[in-house]
Amino acid sequence: MRRKMIAGNWKMNKTLPEATALLTAIAEGLPADAAPGVAVVVCPPALYLVPALPLLRPGSAVLLGAQNCAQQAAGAYTGEISAAMLHSVGVTYVVLGHSERRHYFGETNALVAEKVRLALTNKLLPIFCCGESAAVRAHGDYLGFVKTQLSESLFHLSAEAFGNVVVAYEPLWAIGSGKPATAAQAQQVHAALRQHIAQRYGAAVAAATLILYGGSITPSDVDPFLCEPDIDGALVGGASLHAREFIALVRAAQRAVAGPAVVAAPVA
Ligand code: PEP
Repeated sequence: MRRKMIAGNWKMNKTLPEATALLTAIAEGLPADAAPGVAVVVCPPALYLVPALPLLRPGSAVLLGAQNCAQQAAGAYTGEISAAMLHSVGVTYVVLGHSERRHYFGETNALVAEKVRLALTNKLLPIFCCGESAAVRAHGDYLGFVKTQLSESLFHLSAEAFGNVVVAYEPLWAIGSGKPATAAQAQQVHAALRQHIAQRYGAAVAAATLILYGGSITPSDVDPFLCEPDIDGALVGGASLHAREFIALVRAAQRAVAGPAVVAAPVA
């Protein structure tokens, strides 16, 4: 069985004191053994990655992710942060292809493909985001759209390299809207993505790939998503900015991994 993952994307939020308080609360709420079978990832702004490390270790179940990396390996690219730099300070994951990067910074599937390559070369694990806009969905072929995002950004990878990628389906119409997709809507796309991965890499790789849902997820609506066969957790924006909500999401994923409690048979 695949493990679950809850990943928080803080985006461009929090001052250093606020970030410190949030990370401390998350680390205290999630000690190393808090959520067996659930990978927990926090992606603060890049500036806070280095100070975050001592807050999360030792004894925390939480791994660090970056929200982006440069499209070049190194050199005269003022203001950029490379995949190698992120790895060198102890970052484990990197979010790539987020819809905000695509929308505000013009990132294309080809550019994301290059970032994915650089991330993996530098031992970072990509959380690759895909998802359609409301207009694409209304037009009909949203499954084809997200499958193309996947093929054009990831299918240059070997099967071994692809095994290090987490996919996040994030419909643009759900992100930050307060209105998540339904679990059934997400499951339809996740199943299509898994099938697409199987066609390229085979059933075993597809079955092992984590596919997260992202878009306005909160603790009050996450449970049905976690029950779907192809939804392996969540990439969370707004709710990841509150320790109590983020921890509640991790606990929900842990319950989903543990399954229904076994009730002991009454002794005759
Ligand atoms: C996101 O931007 O990745 C996201 C899922 O945001 P939110 O949870 O706020 O919709």
